[in-house]
Amino acid sequence: MPELPEVETIKQQIEAHLVGSIVAGVSTFRTDVIHGEVLSIMGSTITGARRFGKLLVIDTSKDISLCVHLKMTGRLTLLPVGETFPKHTHVVFHLQPPRSETQLVCFSDARRFGYIHFLPTTAVQDLPFVKSLGKEPLKDLTKKEFELLCARSKRPIKMLLLDQHRIAGIGNIYACEALWMSFIHPATPAQILTRKQMQALFANIEAVLTEGIERGGASDNSYRNLMGGKGKYQDFFKVYGRTGKPCVRCSTPIERIVIGGRGTFCCPVCQK
Ligand SMILES: [Zn+2]
Repeated sequence: MPELPEVETIKQQIEAHLVGSIVAGVSTFRTDVIHGEVLSIMGSTITGARRFGKLLVIDTSKDISLCVHLKMTGRLTLLPVGETFPKHTHVVFHLQPPRSETQLVCFSDARRFGYIHFLPTTAVQDLPFVKSLGKEPLKDLTKKEFELLCARSKRPIKMLLLDQHRIAGIGNIYACEALWMSFIHPATPAQILTRKQMQALFANIEAVLTEGIERGGASDNSYRNLMGGKGKYQDFFKVYGRTGKPCVRCSTPIERIVIGGRGTFCCPVCQK
């Protein structure tokens, strides 16, 4: 599932390539991935992009915004006119940039958990999804607030990190990597972490997310960016998906365990 760095990468590409384009047409092949009135954005100009956790928001000049959640397998792909649409394309936006040929943005999603929601820009803040999001690392979550969240939670630290209502944007990959960097076992109840461990973890969460953004996200599975390219962070994973391979710190084989129903990767020696 695309996490904060993957969605941030797409957001930055939208800012670079789509802002200033006019929405000249929208073709819809499946309506079950759409909420709201598609035609409301016709003729509007794309003015910017924002991100709330893993939710992407594209703003337009008509004060209508598109909220895009890619969920498991959703993709936005920018294509020149005439190219074949990606498999499982459900919606196509025809965009007219100011000084070049018309281009297409395809929303495709094999598993169809993703969606596009068209709504007035002023209503984005009030979406239940946005309202219920916790604060976000690298944005507004402070070290002190993070310590407080840990101190108040009896759940395994890994589950707390994945709880979007407490902390926004971290998914399975970045949680596993940050815990390994911090020498913390993923099943450790959050509240028994020492202050020093909480501070190390907070710093490492910021470090893995920053590295993820710098490397254009991770494409261990289906993620592709707006230009159809892969991210590179998967080539730098220390634990995620490395079951049986040696820990790069101590050579012990990495283990896969299950916490809260999610596959979790850790080193049984480094992360006691
Ligand atoms: Zn190790």
